[in-house]
Amino acid sequence: MTNTFEELERRDHEQVVFCSDKKVGLRAVIAVHNTTLGPSLGGTRMWMYTSEEDALRDVLRLSRGMTYKAAIAGLNLGGGKAVIIGNPEKDKTEGLFRTYGRFVDTLGGRFITSADVGTEVRDLEWIRMETRHVTGVSRLLGGGGDPSTVTGFGVYVGMKACAHEVFGSDSLKGMKVAVQGAGKVATYLCEHLAKEGAKLFITDIQEKRARAAVKRFSATYIKPEKIFETQADIFAPCALGGILNDESIPKLKCRIVAGGANNQLLEEKKHIQMLMDRKILYAPDYAINAGGLINVASELEGYNEERVLKQAEGIYGILQQIFQIAREEKVPTSVAANKLAEYRIQSLGRIKHIYSGKSNGVAHHNEVANKT
Ligand code: NAD
Repeated sequence: MTNTFEELERRDHEQVVFCSDKKVGLRAVIAVHNTTLGPSLGGTRMWMYTSEEDALRDVLRLSRGMTYKAAIAGLNLGGGKAVIIGNPEKDKTEGLFRTYGRFVDTLGGRFITSADVGTEVRDLEWIRMETRHVTGVSRLLGGGGDPSTVTGFGVYVGMKACAHEVFGSDSLKGMKVAVQGAGKVATYLCEHLAKEGAKLFITDIQEKRARAAVKRFSATYIKPEKIFETQADIFAPCALGGILNDESIPKLKCRIVAGGANNQLLEEKKHIQMLMDRKILYAPDYAINAGGLINVASELEGYNEERVLKQAEGIYGILQQIFQIAREEKVPTSVAANKLAEYRIQSLGRIKHIYSGKSNGVAHHNEVANKT
């Protein structure tokens, strides 16, 4: 990435902050993509990036994704993300995370962070010793705890909206659902599906995990490489990203793809088109898996589980809106989702031209100017 400013302009980023402290071995990048709707919120990822360029590219891509996810979920939050370059198995120390926390604090609330790949609740607690701009902490500390429960619930609700769109009924009773991954999100999703009487087909590269879920939900075990071709009504990717690609899409035997994994389409334009050609409805990942973000966002106003679940139920209506736009404008569902998110950002961005008194930055500057 030779020209960083060009990269920022290309994706409309507001701010990128490089944080360094040699003594504790900290090398971190915080990217604030868009704060039209509110402070940027996003996890801090710790990963062994092979180059600084890779780290920067990742944080720019992920922070932009957060803007869209928060916008579509109806949250008053913008998009941000941070990456710490390092080995999460070996390089974690209290000093590193507390130093990083102080850098987060310097942004004065423009960026609020939570856990992500390679970071966990303990790390957040260290960060929280230095800044209050942290969310996603344990229930013991007044937080919302593990967000996967709500992510799983949101995927279940979103699946119902998909079923309604394709089969005319949102009942999942008797529906065959092939679930890729038997981790946290998948397990919570399967709980709801099993309760409603769906027939589950489950895989995981950790066979033990898959077998445990199969036993628990009276499901059928599928080998990881066979999950795409499993005869099912719905395919639920709940493992890693990039799994909708040239190889997997031709194998699919389902009518709907609806799951919790992030970045499911390997190449967005190409692979959504391949799904459409095969008449498979795709639930845009960042819309259907927004439950986790809804959960961590709730902490900012004082965690309330009942309100969180009500908000997550709203994923049903969000998907309905996406499908309506897709139908009316004859665009792929992924494009419809982006349009819906952008529409909210633009329309709410406009309300800020109304002068609302002391919260307005201009008024504040005038006050300061008058005092000096
Ligand atoms: P997890 O680590 O608990 O579970 C993922 C599971 O997928 C693991 O058991 C792993 O062995 C399995 N897996 C990996 N590759 C596989 C493959 N090729 N085939 C079959 N199984 C495979 O993670 P999670 O928290 O359940 O998250 C699952 C996905 O959902 C991720 O893409 C994550 O980014 C996304 N997501 C999670 C949340 C959340 O609240 N946890 C929120 C939004 C999105």
